[in-house]
Amino acid sequence: MRTPLIVGNWKMHGNRASNRALLDAVVRGMAGQEGVECAVCVPFPNLGEVAGQLAGNRLAWGAQNLSEHAQGAFTGEVSGSMLVEFGCRYVIVGHSERRQLYGETDKVAAAKFAAALAQGLTPILCLGETLEERDAGRTEEVVGRMLQAALDLNGMQSFEKVVVAYEPVWAIGTGRTATPEQVQEVHFFLREKLPASTRLLYGGSVKPGNAAGLFALPDVDGGLIGGASLVAADFIAIVRAAQRKG
Ligand code: PEP
Repeated sequence: MRTPLIVGNWKMHGNRASNRALLDAVVRGMAGQEGVECAVCVPFPNLGEVAGQLAGNRLAWGAQNLSEHAQGAFTGEVSGSMLVEFGCRYVIVGHSERRQLYGETDKVAAAKFAAALAQGLTPILCLGETLEERDAGRTEEVVGRMLQAALDLNGMQSFEKVVVAYEPVWAIGTGRTATPEQVQEVHFFLREKLPASTRLLYGGSVKPGNAAGLFALPDVDGGLIGGASLVAADFIAIVRAAQRKG
């Protein structure tokens, strides 16, 4: 049985005061919600404050990136052990914005996945095709290749407790959600390559209005939520939609 999971990806938004207020509103809205696991992945400078705010709360937190290296002369990088010190449970790995804007390769994403596991963090490995790749009928080839790089380096067993997020690049922040049929097709493809316990999230313009339909799909275990996680009421509504699955 896979407990539904909803993860907010705040990206590089807000400031200390606004993010504190957002998290307070999320915590208030989450009171009494059962049957769904939730987390927020926040900017690095917010981690200390978030750890204090969420102490004793069942909402988990994490980061949006980490270094593939354990330590050393890597100016500007943040290691997995540093994230652990701030109480992180999750870390996003291989988000399409990292791949597209910062040149992260499949190999680097796989190494970051390994670095997260080495510290006891739960990686959320993001995979997804561009519109061009989808239109060329290459979706399975692309997501399969991204997944295989992490499987080759880390082994099948390492996927038993991790999270994989299918995030079609053309659906991220565009308001254009993949149809339930498109999502189920890719999730089924991924499911067949992974241990039964791997949680498979969908990400890409999930909103309160489309969440229930997506989460009802047999191979969708929840969502990775960008824009809608910045509005507490929307995030809570999405959590409620996942609750109906649990
Ligand atoms: C994301 O950034 O991972 C994401 C899914 O964003 P959005 O929900 O805004 O499409």
